[in-house]
Amino acid sequence: MMNLDELQSKEDEWIKANGGYWTEFEILARLTEELGEVSSDLQRDKGLRPGKKPTDLEGEIGDLLFTLAAFANKTGIELSKASEKTIRKYNRRLEEDHGEKLSLIHI
Ligand SMILES: [Mg+2]
Repeated sequence: MMNLDELQSKEDEWIKANGGYWTEFEILARLTEELGEVSSDLQRDKGLRPGKKPTDLEGEIGDLLFTLAAFANKTGIELSKASEKTIRKYNRRLEEDHGEKLSLIHI
């Protein structure tokens, strides 16, 4: 198993060894493409969209994460730090909205 820091670090090495990074907007375009592939596979899995080719939702989520890690590397964002920031935000909202600690995520 790999954590987010390891993913970003290993991917950074791999990208630099294989031609280097695309621009932020090129990676962002690919990120939206991969998100569309997740949507497409999910729709096909749920019978909302026809298709003969087998779906691979796990693979598409992997593609999305891989591309997000490339985008984060390119823009100098640490995914683990960004994730913790989001978790703290949701925990704060829960506390503010409900006045008590509900099922918070502990980080
Ligand atoms: Mg894909």
